[in-house]
Amino acid sequence: MSRYVYDFQDGSRDLSALLGGKGANLAEMTRLGLPVPPGFTVTTDACRAFLATGEEPEGMSAEVSRHLSALEAATGRLLGQPDDPLLVSVRSGARFSMPGMMETVLDIGLNDASVLGLAKVSGSERFAWDSYRRLVQMYGSTVMGVDPARFDVVMNRLKEARAARDDLRLDAGDLAGLVEAYKRLILDETGRYFPQSPAQQLQRAVLAVFRSWNAERARLYRRRERIPDDLGTAVTVQRMVFGNLGPDSGSGVAFTRDPATGRPGLYGDYLSNAQGEDVVSGVRDAVPLAELERLDPRAYRRLRDHARTLERHYRDLCDIEFTIERGTLWMLQTRVGKRTAGAAFAIAAELVEEGLITADEGLARVGGDGLARLMFPRFDTTAAGTPLTRGVPASPGAAVGAAVFDSAEAVRRAASGERVVLVREETTPDDLPGMVAAQAVLTGRGGKTSHAAVVARGMGKVCVCGARDITVDAGARRFTTRAGTVVDEGTVVSVDGSSGDVYAGAVPLAASATMRYLETGEQRGSEVASVARALEHADAVRRLEVRANADTPEDAARARRFGARGIGLCRTEHMFLGERRRLVEDMILAPSGAARERALAALLPLQRRDFAGILEAMDTLPVTIRLLDPPLHEFLPDRTDLAVRVAAAQAAGDPAAPRDTALLAAVNRMHEANPMLGLRGVRLGLVVPGLVAMQVRAVAEAVVERVRAGGSPHAEIMVPLVGAVEELRLAREEVRRVLAEVSEETGVPVECPVGTMIELPRAALTAGRIAAEAEFFSFGTNDLTQTTWGFSRDDVEAAFFPAYLDKGVFAASPFETLDREGVGRLVRIAVEEGRAARPGLQTGVCGEHGGDPASIRFFHAVGVDYVSCSPFRVPVARLEAGRAALDGVDTGDTR
Ligand code: ADP
Ligand code: MG
Ligand code: MG
Repeated sequence: MSRYVYDFQDGSRDLSALLGGKGANLAEMTRLGLPVPPGFTVTTDACRAFLATGEEPEGMSAEVSRHLSALEAATGRLLGQPDDPLLVSVRSGARFSMPGMMETVLDIGLNDASVLGLAKVSGSERFAWDSYRRLVQMYGSTVMGVDPARFDVVMNRLKEARAARDDLRLDAGDLAGLVEAYKRLILDETGRYFPQSPAQQLQRAVLAVFRSWNAERARLYRRRERIPDDLGTAVTVQRMVFGNLGPDSGSGVAFTRDPATGRPGLYGDYLSNAQGEDVVSGVRDAVPLAELERLDPRAYRRLRDHARTLERHYRDLCDIEFTIERGTLWMLQTRVGKRTAGAAFAIAAELVEEGLITADEGLARVGGDGLARLMFPRFDTTAAGTPLTRGVPASPGAAVGAAVFDSAEAVRRAASGERVVLVREETTPDDLPGMVAAQAVLTGRGGKTSHAAVVARGMGKVCVCGARDITVDAGARRFTTRAGTVVDEGTVVSVDGSSGDVYAGAVPLAASATMRYLETGEQRGSEVASVARALEHADAVRRLEVRANADTPEDAARARRFGARGIGLCRTEHMFLGERRRLVEDMILAPSGAARERALAALLPLQRRDFAGILEAMDTLPVTIRLLDPPLHEFLPDRTDLAVRVAAAQAAGDPAAPRDTALLAAVNRMHEANPMLGLRGVRLGLVVPGLVAMQVRAVAEAVVERVRAGGSPHAEIMVPLVGAVEELRLAREEVRRVLAEVSEETGVPVECPVGTMIELPRAALTAGRIAAEAEFFSFGTNDLTQTTWGFSRDDVEAAFFPAYLDKGVFAASPFETLDREGVGRLVRIAVEEGRAARPGLQTGVCGEHGGDPASIRFFHAVGVDYVSCSPFRVPVARLEAGRAALDGVDTGDTR
């Protein structure tokens, strides 16, 4: 027969799956000899059985009775005993902390008789009735289902009648009246009486806590935090201790160090003459713990000693709930506490320094997301702004600027030195210049994977998206908040991409010390020192190499400062934009081979210059250059714009500019229903004569230029969107021909490895054959995700990803975190079969997943050689690659 109940003496922290975090840690504190009121925990097994069948599992109630009898024997009182009642709390507690999501009922065992006994033995009528009204209220809402707000109404009416500022002003008579009013409310609302039987109270409260696992808010919380729905909660039954016995009693919460900075020393809040739930609910203002030191130095010292014991035992920051009953300190809860990103690094470094944890464990306790947060400037939290709205915190950091409502205005104002925040309903690729020019992007629609979010993160730009309660009116150049505040163009706003908050006016900014360290190596301040320690250790233990995706010498140089060991993806199409568009148009419109040659020849020196700059910035390190990938029509003007221009010219009687007419014809000719699956990638290189040759020549000549300048360039040429080995073979032949030509012409031997992207399922599935022609593989996991799932990112992210995330089809967007089962399987197959065919084949990842913590762990596990990500993510990837390499160290990534 299974066992459903554990006394605190019998449990331990290792049993949190069974006893919940709360029950397991209460048992652990009991074993440590800390003063914990006695009690026992009903297991999550029992909860799961109850939720599955609707009935208590067999034997559970007998076990509960047995443990209750033992508790009664130990305390010398019976539950609800009329002259001197034992009272208990019934507390929820799941394996993963779900703060405030489920229910707890205090003071079980009180009824119309025992309240009088309690008054007598405690010598305080007020206390007894205060406890009783708490029970009736909590039981009434949690077990009997009365809306908790109804009780507040009754309470507030009474307070008003007594002109009482807070509940302390109510006397015993008031509270006794309140109990009657609450009981009547319960009867009116439910048609049933508040039960007087203590045994019944206990049994029903336990089941109500089980049920609270499935409360709406608990479900929502779990979905958001990715906690499985089938774990169930444990229920802890514990002897009550009383913080509401008078001014020498009270209740509080404490942290063993400052959770905001990590600085050692006890932090927390205390509320005298109060029971635990008052501190959290904020019925009265709590005071800092320093005040407790003054009020009750003995209890304070005890608390400090226990905090030390816990921190040494758990070897981490702990948070604590405690109660002081007439000068005696009781410990009611502890767990490893939440902390800010900065505190996480500081605490890890300090505990390593103190020898409490190993450097590996220290690394396990910090994370890439936290590091990313530290890399952005932050708002000075002491200066609060006026909140305007809140959206999804999509790209961290803090920025201040004047609101503008289109890309052109953003560019115009930024050019004159103004700081701007681009506000759009949603962004599209046309907003790119405005996003580049802006300090931050704010959108009214879209989630973490919307265009605005993805692009902003890539650029390291602050972004809050999906602020649903604002109405953006781009035409009128303003947005309106739900509260009715109108923000016109030019109004200064402050955007916090880490919290999602948007404020009116300019909230002061503090520059990121971590960013300065990464840029300059300057180590100032303890936060920076602890970040440096973590990165050094990660670099020492990681197997994965980290490269960057960079298209300009500036980005390449920054990536190198941030620790990138090369470029994994240099996109040539970025070199075709801006003023060079005209040359690309010329090439596309070229009526003859000779004209095309001329256009390509004009592009050549420009591209050569770009490549030379990048190779110089990455001297001695590999630079993987991808041949032109997007369809050519992407470089032509918009089809509708052109059509309108031509039509307007015709209507006005002037013959349309011949160039526009020709462009329109070309755009129409090249129009594709589905460009993502159209004439692009290697296909383009194989059908547009001279295109590959021009690019390879530019690369090769840049290599020669660098060699002649005394450099050590390592260019690699990468062919995109290969599906069949024949495609790669043909492309590679041309590449080699041009390399040989340039070597011949210049007398400088140019050796560039030629490899391919693996971004089509067919490529992954025929990787063994493709490897025969590929000197390296680079996984383009963005396209591989699109082609494996059969959806185009631009179309689906806004259309149905939010619904899919809500319905639980995805736990995370597959564009943010690699889909291991599908896309990941293809990666694994390609790595294995590619290496089998060509031993030592180099493999890397150049999709955005290369900067995502969870994905990096997967890439480490399948054995790829490097990940490549945007320059700003390089430090994150270094850190996560280090964490991925920690063998057998708990990184806390249990889900
Ligand atoms: P939550 O998980 O929402 O914090 P808890 O089970 O911790 O819920 O209980 C709510 C409050 O009641 C806490 O402040 C807790 O310290 C207090 N509390 C719980 N059990 C007891 C008890 N036996 N004696 C005194 N206070 C208690
Ligand atoms: Mg608690
Ligand atoms: Mg691609």
